[in-house]
Amino acid sequence: MGQMPLPEKFLDMAGDEAANVVRECKARLGKKVVILGHHYQRDEIIEFADFTGDSLRLSEIAAEQSAKYIVFCGVHFMAESADILASEDQMVFLPDMDAGCSMADMAEIDDVEVCWEFLEKNLKNFKDIVPVTYVNSSANIKAFVGRNGGYCCTSSNCEQVLKKIWDKNKNAKILFLPDQHLGRNTAFKMGVPLNMMAFWKAGKEGGGGKLAQLQKSPVILWNGSCCVHQKFNVEQIKAVRKAAKDMKIIVHPECCFDVVQAADYNGSTSQIIKIVEESEPGSQWAIGTESSLVNRLRDQLEPKGIYVQTLGGVPRQCSTMYRNDIQHLAWIMDLIYRLDAGEKVEMYNRVVVDDEIKADAKLALRRMLEKS
Ligand code: SF4
Repeated sequence: MGQMPLPEKFLDMAGDEAANVVRECKARLGKKVVILGHHYQRDEIIEFADFTGDSLRLSEIAAEQSAKYIVFCGVHFMAESADILASEDQMVFLPDMDAGCSMADMAEIDDVEVCWEFLEKNLKNFKDIVPVTYVNSSANIKAFVGRNGGYCCTSSNCEQVLKKIWDKNKNAKILFLPDQHLGRNTAFKMGVPLNMMAFWKAGKEGGGGKLAQLQKSPVILWNGSCCVHQKFNVEQIKAVRKAAKDMKIIVHPECCFDVVQAADYNGSTSQIIKIVEESEPGSQWAIGTESSLVNRLRDQLEPKGIYVQTLGGVPRQCSTMYRNDIQHLAWIMDLIYRLDAGEKVEMYNRVVVDDEIKADAKLALRRMLEKS
């Protein structure tokens, strides 16, 4: 990863002008290009997205596309997933290569291999371990999970994936990567008590906990989290309850356990959108998730008499997602247009996953898509 500085022409380009470049390139390329926009993207990007969605929906859409060029306006792991699922003649681009995910970076393949070796050596029931990775993880981690018989999941289908595993083997022990909160909140909802969840801290001998806890727990949680969703806390919920007793609180399951327990509802990005959009006029919502999405919902639903605000009142933006701006999109669309026209241009920002990694990661992603 690593983004080269934007050429001056695009760096200094006004927003309107950059939007015109995107519009023109898109019109000229026609069906050869598809732009995918994650819900957390800026409005100026969403305006040009052929499809919008959360990571699950966009993975499915990417797999269905026949366009030669896929421009993934999201973060790096999403573009990797699109490349894993794409056919050989498709190319995936990310407008800004520095659009990463701090949570995905918390599970490094070397640390996960160390954990796996430790569990293999020390746990009597190692054969029952099934690795599951949240889709917010690198291709390397997805490949590790795929070659060890595991699954990807998203916040929309996490419960279904865990249920499928436990239906197949009631003694299955899940190593959940990288988001401890999604793993904990989902497993608790499915009846696993908190004291039956072990915790693995990378870099600590034996994960920093007790072997007996690892041995007895049906769930082992990796020490990862989302810096955006960790900004929500129970004090903010109490303040809403005090100031506006009719306001409902809905949060993402990447929030910590206490916040999810104190909220009225929790759900993936798509589930949040559905619940809030389908609420009655006059409803009031405090939402614990990324602010680009919350602000868009606020503007869309205000005319219907539905009031929406970010939980805590302070905008919570995913700064890495936010790196994809209209100037970067214009630059990459112009590059693709010139490439397609046969010009000899230097290729930038193409996301390519190594073939061996791709084959293993595809197993985990396919298993996830089959479960959706
Ligand atoms: S909101 Fe959190 S999990 Fe999502 S891309 Fe940003 S840092 Fe990663």
